[in-house]
Amino acid sequence: KKKIAIMTSGGDAPGMNATVRACVRMAIHMGCDAYCVYEGYDGLVRGGDLIRRMEWHDVRGWLSEGGTLIGTARCMAFFERAGRLKAAKNMILNGIDALIICGGDGSLTGADRFRSEWPELLEELISTGQLKKEQVNQYRHLNIVGLVGSIDNDLSGTDATIGCYSALARICYAVDLIEATASSHSRAFVVEVMGRHCGWLALMAGVATGADFIFIPEKPREDNWREEMCGIIHEHRKRGKRKTIVIIAEGALDRQGNKITPEMVKDLLADKNGLALDTRITTLGHVQRGGTAVAYDRMLATLQGVEAVKAVLEATPETPTCFIAVTENKITRKPLMEAVKDTKEVAKAIERQDFELAMSLRDAE
Ligand code: ADP
Repeated sequence: KKKIAIMTSGGDAPGMNATVRACVRMAIHMGCDAYCVYEGYDGLVRGGDLIRRMEWHDVRGWLSEGGTLIGTARCMAFFERAGRLKAAKNMILNGIDALIICGGDGSLTGADRFRSEWPELLEELISTGQLKKEQVNQYRHLNIVGLVGSIDNDLSGTDATIGCYSALARICYAVDLIEATASSHSRAFVVEVMGRHCGWLALMAGVATGADFIFIPEKPREDNWREEMCGIIHEHRKRGKRKTIVIIAEGALDRQGNKITPEMVKDLLADKNGLALDTRITTLGHVQRGGTAVAYDRMLATLQGVEAVKAVLEATPETPTCFIAVTENKITRKPLMEAVKDTKEVAKAIERQDFELAMSLRDAE
């Protein structure tokens, strides 16, 4: 009987539980044994009761639950070969040679490295007497499939990562709440949103809330961003708008590569010689990550989980490590490392040409 393990790694995202549920149940449906690795790569390295057999009912109620119930971690040991050697040993001791990982590009890069090193790791386990040849023989190839779980929507090659629409919904809800009070007091709010080096959340939140101005890392602001922002906001105010919302991605930059911070924007809006707006900063922080998954994330997680189990069962030693993507509403398999490479080279958020126009629809409502 094939044994398939599922783990979550890197930053948590709503929909990860739905992913685990789908993988566990699909694995059982396909006649396999399902396992969960708790605490991300830490669980693989430490083994023991962090690798647990899962039954159908163990994941009951997980579909909507936020966060990840099997835990996640950033694991230093897995960056080292010694850590990956321990991980390989724990997998063999549990009879597992198929792994589905839901995480960000870091976690998936680690997975690809582990897979390509696998034959060497097995040799080392044998040559150092940690395992016997007979124990290892039926596990000569490691099959790995990636699922992209991240609120940032920061991987190239897929339209949406599991969790990004939940985070976006939460940001929009928060901005709606802020708008009511902003409008009452005629205030300005600088809202900082997550996304690490990616501006997708800030961009989409800007479009979805009709924000006055946004800052994203993919489109560094020109040197005259101060005049540009103040000009637009002044115009909106002149037309009677009583609230000002500026959304700033945590990775926002200017052309010189300097960070643009919420404090800089606030000081500018509040400047007595300029707009002189009563301005507050709201850092949404971790509320963006928490809470139940929106319908889209539950659906994506479930469809992709089903596909991941199929992919891991069909993988051959020759096929490159794949991840499950969604492109134009279709669930597809794609080579993992190409997407990771593209992510480093292409700014995904500005592949969206239509956003400039969409943003220009904002004004005095
Ligand atoms: P994310 O998956 O959200 O991008 P990280 O980049 O923090 O998050 O990666 C999560 C974990 O994946 C790391 O703590 C580490 O254990 C593992 N990992 C990441 N990159 C590598 C790598 N190049 N080699 C081995 N393991 C890695």
